[in-house]
Amino acid sequence: MRSEDAIRELAEAVSGVRILETAAEIARFHRIPGSPGYVEAADVVCRRLAEAGVAATVHDYPADGRTKTYEWVSPPAWSVRAGTLVETAPAQRKLIDFAEVAQGVVVHSPGGTFEGELVHLGAPTGDADYDTADLAGKVVLACARASDVVPRAAARGAVGVVVYPDQERAAVSHDLVQYQSIFPTADEIPHLVPAFSISRRAADRLVKELAAGPATLRGEVGAEFGDGALRVIEAEIGGRGPRPREVLLTAHLCHPRGSANDNASGSAVLVELARTLQTCRDAFDSRTGFRFLWMPEFYGTLPWAAAHAEELRNVEVALNLDMVGPSPERIGEPLRVFRAANHTPHYVNALFEPVLARIAASRVTESPRGSARPLHGSFDRPSGGSDHLVFAASPHRIPAVMLGHDDPYWHTDFDTVGNLDTTRLKQVAILAGVVAALACPEGDEAERVAGWLLAYSVRELTRAADLARDLEPALGARLLDLALAVELARANTLASIDGRRRGALVDVLRRTRGALGPASSGSRVSVLKGEEERPTRRIDGPLVYSITDRFTDEERVFFKDRLGANHRALAEGLLNHCDGTQTPLDIALVLSLDAGTLVPVDDVRRGLALYRKAGYVT
Ligand SMILES: [Zn+2]
Repeated sequence: MRSEDAIRELAEAVSGVRILETAAEIARFHRIPGSPGYVEAADVVCRRLAEAGVAATVHDYPADGRTKTYEWVSPPAWSVRAGTLVETAPAQRKLIDFAEVAQGVVVHSPGGTFEGELVHLGAPTGDADYDTADLAGKVVLACARASDVVPRAAARGAVGVVVYPDQERAAVSHDLVQYQSIFPTADEIPHLVPAFSISRRAADRLVKELAAGPATLRGEVGAEFGDGALRVIEAEIGGRGPRPREVLLTAHLCHPRGSANDNASGSAVLVELARTLQTCRDAFDSRTGFRFLWMPEFYGTLPWAAAHAEELRNVEVALNLDMVGPSPERIGEPLRVFRAANHTPHYVNALFEPVLARIAASRVTESPRGSARPLHGSFDRPSGGSDHLVFAASPHRIPAVMLGHDDPYWHTDFDTVGNLDTTRLKQVAILAGVVAALACPEGDEAERVAGWLLAYSVRELTRAADLARDLEPALGARLLDLALAVELARANTLASIDGRRRGALVDVLRRTRGALGPASSGSRVSVLKGEEERPTRRIDGPLVYSITDRFTDEERVFFKDRLGANHRALAEGLLNHCDGTQTPLDIALVLSLDAGTLVPVDDVRRGLALYRKAGYVT
């Protein structure tokens, strides 16, 4: 099928309003992994799939704070009914109430009551910052992550914790309340104390009062750790033919009550896509099968993927939908497509810009009650931060793309259904659907995809030549050779589906490489002299969040500053290139192609030393 026809077909069948209604239904629940609210949201997805005639399977994985997938320890099952924080002196006022603001109770806060004098720690970064005051019997106020503050404050005798956002997060509103969580292991649970999250405005007022004299807070949390599971919903629309290939479409279903763009939007788009691709099955006469997953971010994805490693071998591409429906008027643009990284070169990267342009140009992709602003899409560098990382990492190594938006209200109580837009929801559904349908192109459309791929790869080589200009000639030549190798591998992924254009593609790519920048003869020897190390990863899966616990304060700063941008995209890329065949210098050069900027080899060497220390790499 031609991409224009696929767009029209999907635009006919997809309803932006239906997506919004599903998103609103999901957003009603406090859908914390392993909690009753999550199960209720999962029931919404299952019911909607059943109504659409799509068969679904439910998988449950332990939520016990003990079971490990790679380095990731499953969170404990937890539920919350109520929580209130009040100031008892000098003023008498309620600071937050779970009934009004679900984010007000820190996720994984234990149940219980506390009352105590307030101590403000500012923005503590290391253990030493907690030793500046006597915390025994006190309530700690801090501008930091609850997962850092709660264990440290509790270990020093604090009876309760209150966290608030920094200036950057609060810039958009001093009234927003951040979603904060602890994700403790089972062994850590007995050492936690109840914790609340409040707005910057509320915190500033408390700090001001503290300057004049003591203040006292009382907190009450109705919550418990208990039984529950990490629930993953899987739906499948099978492919045809002797060698069926699959596209995997995923969205995380978890997050606090109210959270709409993150990620009721992606979950609801996925439900509509399953419904539509099922209905239009005959129109898409394709070898491609579609597999859909709704899960708790990372913690459900990891055990599901580990248990389905064999099935995942048929997956051509993974598409992760995370924050896909914000109103351009209320939240902003663009829709960002975070490309598949260079450790998994694939022609899918070449599909997005042409398809985005066609969707933006077609008024039928708009929802009648939604925004009429032209769709503004941006094809971006790889990003970390969500479930596509699980599939991109070993042992799966699947080309994985994420669709999403920047949203200043992300992980706050201001992320509400009112900020979603039916046109954007519909357009993202169409984009994901068309790319999924084109993932194994046939006939004339395969020829056209080959043309898009050629344009993409030539542009990538040209960009590599730009970067090479800032390197000494031998290094520049090596960078271009590596860029050519990536683009040839990308061409091969299309050739494995439709080989007619392979010879012509390869020829143009080689000649383009030749026309750009320094020749490669002899450079390999001089560049690689003394570079014998070939790091190999020892642990599968994405880098565990808590890897930084294994670093010193100085190492943590290096990791955050040099490898931490874009939700650790570079840090993940570095690990994914540790396949035992590449030297640190080559890894630095290939990562430079991913990042669109030169990555210093010293950063790569230092990063590798940290991974070695953390047990990730030999
Ligand atoms: Zn999130």
